[in-house]
Order: sequence, then structure tokens, then C-alpha cells
Amino acid sequence: MNFEELYKTDLHNHLDGSILMSTCVDIINQQKIVTKHWTMEDIEQGKITSEFLGQIVYARTDMKDLLEYLRAFDVTGACMQTELNLIRVVNETISNAAKSNIKHIELRYAPAFHTSTGLTQQQVQNIVAKAAKEASVQFKVSVTIIICTMKLFAPDSEITQATFALYDQQYPVPIAYDQAGPECMFQFTDYQKQTDAIKVPITLHAGEAAGAEAVKSAVLVGRATRVGHGVRSFESTEVMELLRDRKIYLEMCPTSNTQTNVQGISKTLEDYPLKKYLDFGIKVTLNTDNAMISRCSVASELELMTQKLNLEPVDILMITNFGFEAAFNPNAEEKEKLREEAFKWNVKCLSKYDPEVEKKFCERMKLFQ
Ligand SMILES: [Zn+2]
Repeated sequence: MNFEELYKTDLHNHLDGSILMSTCVDIINQQKIVTKHWTMEDIEQGKITSEFLGQIVYARTDMKDLLEYLRAFDVTGACMQTELNLIRVVNETISNAAKSNIKHIELRYAPAFHTSTGLTQQQVQNIVAKAAKEASVQFKVSVTIIICTMKLFAPDSEITQATFALYDQQYPVPIAYDQAGPECMFQFTDYQKQTDAIKVPITLHAGEAAGAEAVKSAVLVGRATRVGHGVRSFESTEVMELLRDRKIYLEMCPTSNTQTNVQGISKTLEDYPLKKYLDFGIKVTLNTDNAMISRCSVASELELMTQKLNLEPVDILMITNFGFEAAFNPNAEEKEKLREEAFKWNVKCLSKYDPEVEKKFCERMKLFQ
């Protein structure tokens, strides 16, 4: 199947994990940015190449844990601390998505991580939202920005409070809420006071490092209508039923899961629960997580899952359609128009492989009513 030509969404994409490698090399050498992984001398001797950075940044399947995977963000984060660099990264990420027929992208990031040269979180968010709007028009991609609070910072800390202040403002693109960072640190109850007060849609990272209970808590306590990963939901039938009955969307990212050693998922992905969830009536979507760091795209993830789980054209049609359905876009009319357009196009593309794909889709969707 040709996965590039399909109209797709990327709902789980960390901006600082998707910055292009060539951009990192460029910015570090031109702006002489030093991190703990290299010295000024290394820069002056021309050592900072994509091969060099790749050793630090690219994720591998033999990484110890999520923390080792997160090391890459020392590098990418350092390249995203000024207005011009932020604009460039947002623009390139959306341009890159457009090239592979991503029609709706949701870029998530934590403004608190982009203030080291003196920008406030509010300034960072204004820059990112404006750049996103411009790129959205330029490349004809619908864009939402998901603002993350980080579990690294205490729920009542000044940093977290400054992030929460952002959700009350108006921006040129829609926004949403996510809580990111190692799942072991805080649970959703710690943030309940703040999340109860916000009015934007909520997705929460859960069921990646922690198990099915975290997914349940994300939905019941955190009011999440989407769950970032949720891959370990299979540990509990009760949690799977909860996801199905409440029509919660899972933002699945298989390649990333093999690199962060998600418990219960084999490196070969042959037991990856995506198909199991789909057949159970859970709405699953496929995403990149960190496209550059994990060296993947939505098209490559669709292809990978098709190979590993023997997905049929109708499965692909369902997964891509759920992506458009799950989009955080408050403009319901615009969102439905895009979903419909994508659906028609994808039926046309997938009919080459299965002329009955649309009929099978209608049949299979009965499970989700
Ligand atoms: Zn993530």
C-alpha cells in the first residue's frame, strides 16, 4: 500500500522531538551553542555534524529507559530558545508534515523549556502560535498547539502556574492541554485543581511508563478525552471497557514505545495491541511522538503496523478516520469538512487494494456506535 498518498493526522508530535536534524546542526554551528555533550572547541573544529549529533539524539531499541530516551531533548531544546529559532522549527515541522500529506497536525511542547534566554512562557506561546498559524496557511495544514505542563515541576510551582495562565488566552490557532514527563513523578490528582479550571480539551500521557491504572486515572480524574499512548491498557479489561464506552481516543506511537521499553511490548511489535484495541471497539490513532528522534513518520508507522499486524485496507481507513475525528479543533464544521474530504480521498486510494473497503468500513464501524 502507498501510505504517503493517504491523508493523515499526527496528533501526538512533540515539537522538540521533531525538529529536523539538519536544523540542529545548522543552529548549533551558526549560533555556537554548547551543551554538556560537546565543547566550544568541538564546534570550532567542525565536529558537530549530523553523525555526531545522531549518537546523542537518535533513539535506539536498546535504550535503558525513558530517561535515556529523553537525553536527546538536551540537544533539541538548546536549538529552540530564541524567537527566530522557534519560528523556524514550527515552520519546518509543519512544512515537513505537509510533504507527506498530513492534513492536521497537533504540535505539543512545554513553554517552560524555552525560556533560557529570557523569553517568558507567554512570549514563547505567542511566538509558537503565530508561527503555527502562518505555516498552517502557507502549507494548507490544519494545526493545533498542545501546551504541556511538565511533571518535573511541582503542580503549585511558579513555573507550572505560569503555564496554566496560558490556557485562558486567545491565540490564532486552537490550543489543548497535556501533562507530560515521567509518569512515576506525579499523578493526575496533583493537578486536579488546575485542570478543573481550564476550558481547553485535554489529552494526557498515560499507560506508557505506568500501567493501565494510569490510563483509568487520566480519564476519570484527569478528564482526558484522548490518552497519549495508553498502550498498556491491555493489562486491564476494565480499563479497555472504560476506553471503549467513553469513546476515548488512544494516540499510539509504536516505534517510540519500542525505544522507551514499554513493559509488555516486544521489540518486534508483533504483539503490539493496536489491532486488539481496534477489534475491541477502542478508537486508535497512529502518531510519531518524536519524528526526528525516533526517525519515523505517520506513513512509516502505518506501514510498520500493516506489516507486523497484517492490517487490511479497512483497518487503515478506520485508523486514519479516527485521527480526523479526534482532532482538537473547536470549529466543528471545519473539522468535519476536513474529515470528510480525507475520508473520500482515502477510500479512493485504498479501493485500489480492496474495492470493498468502504462497505467493510461501514460494517466495522457498528462496533463503535
Ligand atoms: Zn509523548
